Amino acid sequence: MKTFDKSSKLEHVAYDIRGPILDEANRMMANGEKILRLNTGNPAEFGFTAPDEVIRDLIANARNSEAYSDSKGIFSARKAIMQYCQLKGFPHVDIDDIYLGNGVSEMISISLQALLDDGDEVLVPMPDYPLWTACISLAGGNAVHYRCDEQADWYPDIDDIKLKITSNTKAIVVINPNNPTGYLYTRREMNQIRDLVQKYDLYLFSDEVYREYIYTGSPYISACHLEGIEQNVILIDSVSKRYSECGIRIGALITKNKDVRAAVMKFCQARLSPPLIGQLVAEASLDAPEEYYRDVYDEYVERRKCLIDGLNRIPGVYSPIPMGAFYTVAKLPVDDSEKFCRWCLESFNYEGETVMMAPASGFYTTPGAGINQV
Ligand code: PLP
Repeated sequence: MKTFDKSSKLEHVAYDIRGPILDEANRMMANGEKILRLNTGNPAEFGFTAPDEVIRDLIANARNSEAYSDSKGIFSARKAIMQYCQLKGFPHVDIDDIYLGNGVSEMISISLQALLDDGDEVLVPMPDYPLWTACISLAGGNAVHYRCDEQADWYPDIDDIKLKITSNTKAIVVINPNNPTGYLYTRREMNQIRDLVQKYDLYLFSDEVYREYIYTGSPYISACHLEGIEQNVILIDSVSKRYSECGIRIGALITKNKDVRAAVMKFCQARLSPPLIGQLVAEASLDAPEEYYRDVYDEYVERRKCLIDGLNRIPGVYSPIPMGAFYTVAKLPVDDSEKFCRWCLESFNYEGETVMMAPASGFYTTPGAGINQV
């Protein structure tokens, strides 16, 4: 009998955030058990809701969302994103520089497929939001992980990046603030990365989906603020993640480089259209009243404090205070993070629910145990 084997392309693809622990959780949920799912950043599962205007627009636009849209995304959504970029001080972002996708995930996948040749190397932070490593591998490239130093609260080691640049290196990825560590790249680090990008003429993929969630009062340095590498920057930005509406799926890729745009456009056309309903409410999302955003932000601050204080009170446990986003990686006195997460899932009961977390191994990192989602 013919057997159907999975593609060898999947060999280097790991996505443990949704891997075996999730399979077990799904089995338990099918048996009626309740589980607190801390493994993914999905704010709507934790009491955060999209702005009311967005829901009103969703309902009003249901009938208008039946057709395919322009492969790049509709004009009004791209214009709203362009205006947001202007407010953030990203000079010269034009409506033609913006491509919309089914969440950021699709734009990460499309851009890597469009730009990498077999054997191209891409420098990725470790810990890494694992979609990056997976998509690089699926696009034929090699993810080369640069060290983010656990001993220095996950500081990105610029010397390690320098050491790992070879003649095959095509791009550097920055996830800022980082998922899962919450680290916020400083101006100095961003300038050092800019110098490397310029010197070796690399692409800089900057995943800035958590840009609005920074808790330190430090200035945010976007890749779009860096002078001299405007043609190298590929900005990855999300509308849906920012407004607690991940399921509505509005992600954007922004680039001033016309060759990148042409390559990305080929893929966008091949997949026809991003989901139209999300695009139709992008404007309403970006117009959300200031109070909406302030309330969500304050709640994140509160929960972050509660989680980090709680963790650091446990003997043997250490979590740095995340500077941004809504995750942390805690160091625990165990050797096998997957085993620990499995134990939590099966036995650690919090107010009637057992707790699912992502093992640190799922983020291409050192042993320990990860705790995801503040
Ligand atoms: N990039 C980072 C750093 C993320 O944390 C996530 C999701 O959690 C994504 C990209 C994917 O976002 P989307 O839901 O827009 O596909």
